[in-house]
Formats: sequence, structure tokens, C-alpha cells
Amino acid sequence: HPPPQPSAMQHSSNSQSQPLTSRRVAVIGAGAGGLVSARELGREGHSVVVFERSSQIGGTWVYLPEIESDPLGVDPNRTRIHSSLYKSLRTNLPRELMGVRDYPFVPREGEGRDPRRFPSHPEVLKYLEDFANEFGICKLVRFGTEVVSAGLVEVGKWRVRFRCESGDVDDEIFDAVVVCVGNYSQPRVAEIPGIDEWPGEQIHSHNYRDPEPFRGKVVILIGFSSSGTDISQELLVVAKEIHIACRSAKTGFLLAESVISKVSFHPMIKSVRKDGTVVFEDGCVVSADVILHCTGYKYHFPFLETNGIVTVDDNRVGPLYKHVFPPALAPGLSFVGLPFKVVPLPMFELQSNWVAGVLSKRIALPSKEEMLADVKAFYADLEANGKPKHRTHEMSDCMVEYFNWLAATCGCPAYEEWRKGMYDYTHVNKRANLGSYRDDWHDDELIRQAYEEFRKYTT
Ligand code: FAD
Repeated sequence: HPPPQPSAMQHSSNSQSQPLTSRRVAVIGAGAGGLVSARELGREGHSVVVFERSSQIGGTWVYLPEIESDPLGVDPNRTRIHSSLYKSLRTNLPRELMGVRDYPFVPREGEGRDPRRFPSHPEVLKYLEDFANEFGICKLVRFGTEVVSAGLVEVGKWRVRFRCESGDVDDEIFDAVVVCVGNYSQPRVAEIPGIDEWPGEQIHSHNYRDPEPFRGKVVILIGFSSSGTDISQELLVVAKEIHIACRSAKTGFLLAESVISKVSFHPMIKSVRKDGTVVFEDGCVVSADVILHCTGYKYHFPFLETNGIVTVDDNRVGPLYKHVFPPALAPGLSFVGLPFKVVPLPMFELQSNWVAGVLSKRIALPSKEEMLADVKAFYADLEANGKPKHRTHEMSDCMVEYFNWLAATCGCPAYEEWRKGMYDYTHVNKRANLGSYRDDWHDDELIRQAYEEFRKYTT
């Protein structure tokens, strides 16, 4: 692989050419967000320690066949599993979009590699390992080290307390803390009247690994977003019936003729009864064996001590300026990776480049008052558009605008046209061909443009 390419830092302007300030920074988590952040911070000249509670890098992409002791994922004392991957998972984005800007996720030769455009999950983990090796990140990571608290001790000084593998708890002082703990581990479940007396099984998609346990069963699947659509395809093969409860009737998904008889779409569940039946809002009643919650995740930062300055309220982490900096604690505390319905890694790259640049004083932040006013205006806008609090960090249609705002702020290139085109096309193709979009596509011209750009970094 070619040597590392010029960093975004070099693209950026430090117009006064003043020496950059170097900080001691704690990055919490060595998933994709932590790895990319460590690289950006290191390139900017900061001294970085990455805390990772597991024994390897990769976070979400480290598949574990085990599930938690509470399959619904609500018991606070349950055994915990970080990753929400299921066994057969293939990416839902094409690899050209997924990679870091200057380290594209191109197919590589080698044992166990998966060259497909929408590869299976071990290929993503291998890419992250390649990335970490290429940029020398592993030596910055303290494995088996869980951060148990992080809080401000005095202006500009953060105490990070961590539990080592031996069980010993220690602490160190840092100038800044970047939170990269991932957002897909803490299940969010639907509230269902009567559920306590319902005799069936319940499970959250976090603890779904393969379809076998659902063989011959009548399954109620709540939610039809990324996990729900994927899992429904696997269940079609084994389940007796599938009843999908979702807010918007997405029956537009073209299901193969042969399976339509097995699948019904419904509005949300109204209640469940102790005789095992489930009543939908449209009055339909179904006797079911399992309820599978594909209802997403909650932000969860049990280690964060901010005296109530940063809160999680109905899944809104706030107040945060542009989803990254809490105005009252910036730049010492930042979050990389909160927005969802995005292309994650390029976003991590931009967000962490911003954090690195602000900490080094290459990039100036607005005043606390200005940042807070911006957050207030953003919340008011969400409200005016009828977007509920729990969708505060949802990007979707605003993604490109957000990425370009970050890029302009950091002095990085704007999001390329081919990326926009490919992202939109993939969604359209998925909607039209849920069962086959990963293997059948017609955006060859965009792929050509992508590889033309990648040549800058791979030749
Ligand atoms: P994570 O990967 O979750 O990493 C967080 C890390 O923090 C973990 O290693 C964890 O052990 C560590 N940690 C947590 N708390 C602590 C603590 N207190 N102390 C120390 N360490 C801690 N993205 C794509 O681009 N394409 C896809 O196709 C795709 N499919 C997905 C499918 C599923 C089912 C899920 C759940 C996600 C998918 N994603 C996909 C999104 C994926 O989450 C991101 O690509 C990315 O891996 C997230 O990285 P992260 O670093 O934010 O979080």
C-alpha cells in the first residue's frame, strides 16, 4: 500500500503560520471513530492515548456470536456485548463510499478477503486493521482498559479514570477528551401496553445473530429501517409468518412474489394480551411467538461527569455545537460519531479533523454564546419542522450540507459529486431491490469516477 497521503491538516489553512499548540488528548474507544480521531489528532501534533475496553480494535465490526443475558437488552445488570452485528451481515453502503477519504476501502488480495462491493463484515474489520497498521495507531491504544469516569478538574484539565484488565482503577490528567464510544450498543425498545403479561419472547436486533431460532415461528418485527429491512430478508426463509409494524407503510419495498404471502405490513402495535395475541392500531389481531425490536439504539455515556452540562434527553445529546462540542466545555470535550443516517467514516474524519484543529488553535471556535445561540436556533428549526427530539442527530438529507460545512471549516475538500450520486443511487436501488441491491447495480460511471479519484492515493 502507498505511504500515507498528505493529511487534511496540510490542506487546511493556518494563515498566520503560528506554531500549533500540542495537547495531551484522551480518545475513548478504538472503533472506527477512535482510530480515525487518533490519526487526525496525531497528524496535528497532539499526543494521543486511546482507551479501549476490549482486547482489539474495530468496535462494532468485531463480531461475537454470543448474545447478552437479557435478549431485549434492558436489564442494567445483563452481561454486555458491544457489537450489534449478525452473522451474515454485509455492508449496506458500497465500499467506495465507506472508506476514509485518503485511505480508500479498495479490494485487497489475501486470505479471507472479500472483494465484493458490499462485503461481509470481516472485510470491514480487516480494512480497519489495515488502516490502524498503516498509520501506526495500535501503539497508541491501551487495550483492556475501560474508562469509568471522565470529568473536568480545573479549567482545561480532564481527569480520566480507567479500569485495567487486572481490575485496578487508575487515573490520568488530559487537556482534552474525545468521546468515540459508538452508538449502537444500548437498545431502545418499543413501549407496548400489556407487554408484562404477554407470554411470548422478546428480543432486540442488538442480540439477533442468525435466523435459526425463528424457524417456524410467527414473528412480529417492529421497525423497518436498516436492521429491520435486513433481518426481515433472512427471516423470510425460516419464519412461518412475519408481521412488520412500522410508522410509515413501506410496502413499496418490492418483496419477491413468493414471499408476499408470508409478510404483512401493519401500523404500530396498540397492545398485546396475555393469550399471546398482538393487536395493531389498524385493529388487526395476530397470535405471535416472538416480538423482534428493530427499534434502534440510545446514546449512553455512563462515564461522563459534566455536572449536568451535557445531558441525554430523549436521545438528544446536548447542547452540542454542530453535534460535536458542548459550548460550555469546548474544546476540552468533544464527541465524534453522533450523527446517524450518514456515511460514518468520512464524517469521523471531518469531525475529528475539526477537533484536532480547534485544539491546536489552527481553527477558531465561535464564542460560547454564539455556539449556544446556534444550538438554540437549530433546536427551534427542528421543532418548526416537526422533527422530534429523538431525531436531533439524524442527518439523512442534511448530510452533504453538514459534511461540507465541516470541510469548509477545516479547509478540507468538499464532498465529491460522485459520492453524493452514489449515496442517493444506493438508496434508490435498495428501496427498489431490497433482496438484491448488494449484487446488482447500475452506477458504473460513478464507480469509475470513484476509482479515478482513488488512484491519487493508491498508485
Ligand atoms: P464502535 O465501532 O461501536 O466503537 C466504539 C468502541 O468504544 C468499542 O470498541 C468499545 O469497546 C469502546 N468503548 C465503549 N465504551 C468504552 C469505555 N467506557 N472505555 C473504553 N472503551 C470503550 N457503517 C458503514 O459505514 N457501513 C455499513 O454497512 C454499516 N453497517 C452497520 C450495521 C450495523 C448492524 C451497525 C450497528 C452499524 C453499522 N455501521 C455501518 C455503522 C458503524 O457503527 C460505523 O461504521 C462505525 O463502525 C462506528 O464506529 P464508532 O467508533 O463510532 O463505534
